[in-house]
Amino acid sequence: MPRASLHTLGCRLNQAETAIIAKTLSVRGYDIVEFGEPVDLTVINTCTVTEQADAKCRQAVRHALRLNPQTYVAVVGCYSQIGLEAIRQIKGVDLIIGNEHKLKVVDHLNGLTKQINPIVIHSRELPQEEFTIESPGLYSFNTRANLKIQDGCNYYCSFCIIPTVRGRARSRTFADIIREARELVEFGHRELVITGVNLGTYKNDGKRLLQVINELEKIDGLARIRISSIEPTTIGAELVRYMASSEKLVPYLHLPLQSGDDRILKAMKRKHTIAAFSKFVEWAAKTIPDVGIGADIMVGFPGEGEDEFLHTKEALTELPIYYFHVFSYSDRPGTKSHDLKPKVDPQTKKARARKLIDLSSRKKRAFYEDHVGDTVNVLFEDEENGYWTGHTGNYMKVQVTGSQTLHNRILPVRLTETRGDTLVGVLL
Ligand code: SF4
Repeated sequence: MPRASLHTLGCRLNQAETAIIAKTLSVRGYDIVEFGEPVDLTVINTCTVTEQADAKCRQAVRHALRLNPQTYVAVVGCYSQIGLEAIRQIKGVDLIIGNEHKLKVVDHLNGLTKQINPIVIHSRELPQEEFTIESPGLYSFNTRANLKIQDGCNYYCSFCIIPTVRGRARSRTFADIIREARELVEFGHRELVITGVNLGTYKNDGKRLLQVINELEKIDGLARIRISSIEPTTIGAELVRYMASSEKLVPYLHLPLQSGDDRILKAMKRKHTIAAFSKFVEWAAKTIPDVGIGADIMVGFPGEGEDEFLHTKEALTELPIYYFHVFSYSDRPGTKSHDLKPKVDPQTKKARARKLIDLSSRKKRAFYEDHVGDTVNVLFEDEENGYWTGHTGNYMKVQVTGSQTLHNRILPVRLTETRGDTLVGVLL
């Protein structure tokens, strides 16, 4: 039985796609093992969202070849789509597949014969039609699984390369989504995370995101539905009200805010102002009981001075957002912001990122401390040294001691204290 390992860089959508590739390999007889173990095949699903992401992809390829010099290396995904020539230069790569054909990697492995020059499967034009995916994802754990419902984006934010590498917005057919969801639940997953590039633009056969969620709710055995990152301007009042009363759609929103300054938001070509965003977040926090709201923030966009940065910091301090992922702006050739000036120097970007990461830690701690004494439901995932860890619906990390297996069970826990970035509790 040939052995294969897969490595994912980048976003949750990439994780969903790697899981699908893994399943297609396993169906064709490959034994899927951890990245780093001796293997016949390595698949690297790449990301190109920043310059650093590109560098990490190249490092991952070299690392895989160092560990397994004879492994057949397939490099697929976003960096393959745009960085074809750079990947061609890496000695030892056998196959490069762009975004359109990457899920079919299993059909292009050529008997795992090492190549002098890599085989390239790549098209510049990406599809625009609705799509289906034949295989469900394969996950090594069976708590949470990602469910891809959408790809591409038409928004063209000025810093973002994604519309170029993933193409225009398109949706997966409704029936195909529900079929995969059922298969994932039959396999044992208790939580499905709905993923896509711009989820809120989902549209197929008259169905929108809300109808997808509503249909998923009917699946017996599925305990939780989570929406991954979603553009705030695509969330209607109906979705918020639905989340407020749903048994299965968890109270969780992750919103790409990016900046708290209107001038920068405009230069980014974002579709919201800070006032509209704030109004929405405050309303959602009041409407959805115990919602956990997170955000993506970008520091160091061209023209971001001290004042603009302070506007972002103030907004994040005041809004009911309990954690944020902080990214430093990275110049991507082919994006509109590439030509914008003045650029922010790397040291300033680093210092601003540090300040926001510290603020995020403080807000997260405060959010967690507010919950001490509460009883929450936790979906347990892993055990380490006698401690079981899992997450609540609003994505707080909770730990309990337990000698029996809690894996994949949802159990009530009384929260007793915070410890680092975790809440500690006792099973009821
Ligand atoms: S909404 Fe903007 S940031 Fe998000 S994928 Fe589309 S273009 Fe990129």
